Amino acid sequence: MNQADSEIITSLLQDEGYVVTDVEDSADLVILNTCAVRENAVEKIMNTLDNLKGKRRLRPGLLVGVIGCVPQYYREKMFGMSEGIDFLAGPDTYRQLPLLIENAERGIRGANLAHIPEETYQGIEPSRTGRISAFVPVMRGCNNMCAFCVVPFTRGKERSRSTTSVIDEVERLVEKGYKEITLLGQNVNSYYDGDTGDRFAGLLEKVGIAAKGVRVRFTTSHPKDISESLVRVIAEHENICNAVHLPVQSGSTRMLELMNRGHSREEYLEKIAMIRNSVPGVTISTDLIAGYCGETEEDHCETLRMMEEVRFDFSYMFYYSVRPGTYAAEHLPDDVPEKVKKRRLEEIIALQNRISGELHSAEIGNVVEVLAESESKRSETMLMGRTGTNRVVVFDRNGFLPGDLVQVCIASSTSATLVGTPVSSS
Ligand code: SAM
Ligand code: SF4
Repeated sequence: MNQADSEIITSLLQDEGYVVTDVEDSADLVILNTCAVRENAVEKIMNTLDNLKGKRRLRPGLLVGVIGCVPQYYREKMFGMSEGIDFLAGPDTYRQLPLLIENAERGIRGANLAHIPEETYQGIEPSRTGRISAFVPVMRGCNNMCAFCVVPFTRGKERSRSTTSVIDEVERLVEKGYKEITLLGQNVNSYYDGDTGDRFAGLLEKVGIAAKGVRVRFTTSHPKDISESLVRVIAEHENICNAVHLPVQSGSTRMLELMNRGHSREEYLEKIAMIRNSVPGVTISTDLIAGYCGETEEDHCETLRMMEEVRFDFSYMFYYSVRPGTYAAEHLPDDVPEKVKKRRLEEIIALQNRISGELHSAEIGNVVEVLAESESKRSETMLMGRTGTNRVVVFDRNGFLPGDLVQVCIASSTSATLVGTPVSSS
């Protein structure tokens, strides 16, 4: 989401005459777009601001702005956290950045942290760096109030772009030759266009049709909102990728209740069965939190058992980080010692690596269709890409170029990657 927001911000600033540089030392303006979901994200920003201090001494006039969820969360208090901040903006006030920068140039340290409930940045054509894959944000904010999460506080209430503006953007991307489009939202299946009555399934279907021949992905879905109609759309449209990211957070119903997730372990498993019955070969990935408030060894084992049962393709795994102001921080004791949180997280990671490794090695000998994205980091004679099911594949170049769809025979694998050779040359 932040990457997509950065593309919107770049576009807004380019319209004002700013130019992007790849060389940090030559920049007159540095903007840090930030995430407040976990405490360590805040530490990272403070380290970056410390590093920038030296650059400010060498380059007088260098301006530094901190934008996004961290300043929205800490508000003007942030100015006190580091002298090296010239301006602050929250996720709803990026249109005000030119004014904030202008004021900063005149020595006025300003912050615009307003919540603008209707802001969707509709009408701004993002300045995209990639030429193959594009993000299209379709909704912003979240109404869910999971007990551990800052997003509803920092990004505000849900609001959706109009179906027409999304489809127009998708058509422009198809015309420009993009090969993959990812629809984005904090909770993408809460999408709702009051004028057309379209919910996410309706939007996804229209995007699937408008982007025929182009891969369509979406993220992130909330388990309680994934509907049969949405799953039907995925199953019926070949270009809508068979990969669903469905964060579960915990395998224990008791924890899910304390998290206010709105579903039980059993209901989650029913949704997984519904998806798998309708979309053969679909991969499911998830987010998991270890050591949430009151989590016992038994709750943790339920998470491990759920991982074994579902066999997630991959997971984003975190240990619980207290976020002041959230329901959990204010009402539930953070009573799992850090050592235990870390040990449980390690167990979760080890199990996920084992499962991913097994799922990947089952692909050896199969031919998979890969959208080539870039040169592989391993070797310039290899390309890296992804299957429709979102598996990373590294393969011999054989004359193919990023953007090509390549049939690759898988020869070996690790828990993170499939490795293979194209069945033909380009
Ligand atoms: N809206 C999506 C959903 O509910 O599935 C997820 C968005 S959230 C920004 C991304 C992930 O960060 C969550 O799924 C959760 O696993 C993790 N997360 C959020 N708050 C956290 C916290 N306080 N401590 C640790 N992980 C957290
Ligand atoms: Fe946070 Fe829950 Fe909203 Fe996801 S659904 S962004 S975890 S409050």
